[in-house]
Amino acid sequence: MKILVVEDNKDIQKLLRLNLIQENFEVIQAFDGEEGLSLAKESSPDLILLDINLPKINGIELCRQLKSNPALRHIPILILTVRKEEVDRIIGFELGAEDYVAKPFSPRELILRIKAILRRQDKPQGFLRLEAGDLSLDENSFEVKVAGKVKPLTSTEFKLLKYLMLNKGRLLSRENLLHNVWGYNHEIDSRTVDAHIKSLRRKIPSRKVKIATIIGMGYKLSEDV
Ligand code: MN
Repeated sequence: MKILVVEDNKDIQKLLRLNLIQENFEVIQAFDGEEGLSLAKESSPDLILLDINLPKINGIELCRQLKSNPALRHIPILILTVRKEEVDRIIGFELGAEDYVAKPFSPRELILRIKAILRRQDKPQGFLRLEAGDLSLDENSFEVKVAGKVKPLTSTEFKLLKYLMLNKGRLLSRENLLHNVWGYNHEIDSRTVDAHIKSLRRKIPSRKVKIATIIGMGYKLSEDV
């Protein structure tokens, strides 16, 4: 498995490289956003570790560019961020990163997150086709359509929507979603779920299908609300 680390801080690069190599990952290093973008294109990594404050192209902008490129969109991005308040911006809306880790991070925790992301990327694809109202999801073509129009989603959004659709009408707690969509077992910030739900709602503006928030409980996808 190949990991591209985009980080301008040489000490953090060194620390990450050491820990990743120990876990038998192949490591590619980029020290600014421009280099990160070209290495993402050239080396087709399995995952990108992305710092936010970067010279030339910052991490937010780089993430946006990667996720809007059809050839690169599928590569999961794990963001390294200093500020927790940035989480909504990073994971939700147009950025579509898979997850984030706040600095200073523990290398052990980071490796666990990386493995969890790769594990869920790795799951063999079934060829499910799901429908709810005017919404359709096709695992074969990796397409989600609202009233016949394709809505591009990131891989995590796709998996989240698939799980919600499979469990249509059922209340799903954040813990349930984290466990089944993200593959985490505990102690993960549930804002990850909230941010992805927010972004899904924005990207699939269906009139017939709603993802409702059940306050204090979780989420529920339902038809014809
Ligand atoms: Mn930096």
